[in-house]
Amino acid sequence: SQSDLNRLIAELAGLEIITDVAQVSKLSQDYYTYSPLLQDALADKRGDIVVKVTSEAEVLRVAKACVNHRVPLTVRGAGTGNYGQCVPLAGGVILDVSGMQQVKWVKPGIACVEPGAKLAAIDKQTRESGWEIRMAPSTYRKATIGGFIGGGSGGIGSITYGQLRDRGNLLALRVVTMEAEPQVVELRGDDVYKVAHAWGTNGIITELEIPLAPAYAWAEAIVAFNDFMTSARFGQALGNSDGILKKMVCICADPLPTYFAALKSSIPAGSHVALVLVAECSLEPFAELVKEFGGEVCYQKLAQEASKGITLVEYSWNHTTLHARSVDPTLTYLQTLFPDDPELKVLEHLYDHYGDEVMMHLEFIRVGGSVRPVGLQVVRYTTGDRLQEIMDYHESVNAYIFNPHTYILEEGGRKTVDIQHLRFKERVDPLGLLNPGKMKAWLERRS
Ligand code: FAD
Repeated sequence: SQSDLNRLIAELAGLEIITDVAQVSKLSQDYYTYSPLLQDALADKRGDIVVKVTSEAEVLRVAKACVNHRVPLTVRGAGTGNYGQCVPLAGGVILDVSGMQQVKWVKPGIACVEPGAKLAAIDKQTRESGWEIRMAPSTYRKATIGGFIGGGSGGIGSITYGQLRDRGNLLALRVVTMEAEPQVVELRGDDVYKVAHAWGTNGIITELEIPLAPAYAWAEAIVAFNDFMTSARFGQALGNSDGILKKMVCICADPLPTYFAALKSSIPAGSHVALVLVAECSLEPFAELVKEFGGEVCYQKLAQEASKGITLVEYSWNHTTLHARSVDPTLTYLQTLFPDDPELKVLEHLYDHYGDEVMMHLEFIRVGGSVRPVGLQVVRYTTGDRLQEIMDYHESVNAYIFNPHTYILEEGGRKTVDIQHLRFKERVDPLGLLNPGKMKAWLERRS
C-alpha cells in the first residue's frame, strides 16, 4: 500500500530514489517489445519507485527495508533484456545497480567486477593487460555484467567458449539475500548456477569473478554467397576450423542484409552473407577457406578501424532482429537450437519449408564440444496461433525452441522446473519478493 511505500522511502533516506512516474515507467521496461505477445502482456507493468545503489552496503539496506515492509524488489542492470526479465509484474522497488561499476582487480585469466559494470567497459580495462571477456551479447556497449549473468545466454565469443551455462564461464558470485536479516552469500563452483540465469529471483548479485580470454586484434569481414546453404556450410566449416581464431560467425539469409542500412551498399544484391570476427593473425588461412567455398569478401576492416565506426557485432545476435524491426516493426523472431547435425539437414529442411516467412539467421556456437548453429530467425508475424504453430513444427523436427515470447523463466529455457533454483529460493527469498511472477516452480509451489 501507499503507506507501506512511504515508510519504506523514509527508511531509505540518504539513497537516490526516483518517484517521478514517467522516469519510473521508463526504468520498468526492457526490450520485450520484439515479441508481439509480450507487448500485450507487459505494456502497463511498472514499479512504484526506483532506488539507485552504488555499494553492497546500500543493497543490503534496500533488501532489509523491502523485507520489513513486504515490498517486491526487481533488480535492473541496463534493462536490455528481451523477455521482460526486469519488468516488475507486481510493482514495488526497481533496484538499479548500474552505479556499481568498479572493476576490482584483473589477474591473468580472471577479473573481479561489480554487477553494474558495462561489458565494454570491463573489456577496456582488461585489454590493458592483454585479456578480454570470453563472451558478450551484441548489446555489450550498454549491457551490464550482472544483467548478462542474470539473464543472458551467450553471444560473441560463444563460437570458442560455449555459453554462459557451461561450467567454467562464471567463477564466483557474491549475492545479497532477502531473508528477514539479509546476508551476503559467496557462491563458487557449481553453486553459482543457483543464481546465474535466475532473472534476479534468487538474490541480488553484488560482485562477480569472471574468466577472461586472450585478447586478439579482431578483424571484421562480410563474405557474400549466391546460395544460402553454401553460406551455412561455410559457417559450419569456419566454426570447425580449429586453427583459425574467430570470435563470431553469423549467417544471414537474403533478404536480411537488405535491412542493414549502413552495410547495404557493401553487399551485392540478393546475396546471403557471413558476418565474421577473425583474428588479424588468421586472415590468410581465413581467405583460403572463403576461396574453398566460393565466397566473396565484400567488406573487411582491421581491428583498429572497426573499433571506431560501425562494428559487425551490432548486426549479429539479436541486433539482426533490431535492424529488421527498425525497417518493419511487425517482424518478430525465434530462438532455436539446431540438433547436432553436421550436414545441416534439419536447417536445410526448415529453410526450404518456410521460405520468406521465417528469414534464416544463424549464429554458430560450441555446444558440448562441437560446433552447431543456433537460430535467431526473423519471422513475418501474422497471428499468435501461427507463431505457435511455427515453433511447434520446429520442435517436431528436433530444432529446439527457447521461446522468446514468454516472461516465465522456465518456459523460455529448458521448460523444466529447476529444483536447485527452487531450493535456493526457499532459503534466500522465503517471502517470494524477488522479481515475483517469473519463476514457475515457485508459483506452482505456492498454489
Ligand atoms: P537487465 O535487462 O537489466 O537484466 C536482465 C536480468 O538479470 C533481469 O531479470 C534482472 O532482474 C537480472 N539482473 C540484473 N542485474 C542483476 C543483479 N545484479 N543481480 C541479480 N539479477 C540481476 N543476450 C544474450 O545473451 N546474447 C546476445 O547476443 C544478446 N543480444 C541482444 C541484442 C539486442 C538488440 C537486445 C535488445 C538484447 C540482446 N540480448 C542478448 C539480451 C540482453 O541484452 C543481454 O542478456 C544483456 O546482457 C542483459 O544485460 P542488462 O544489464 O541489460 O540486464
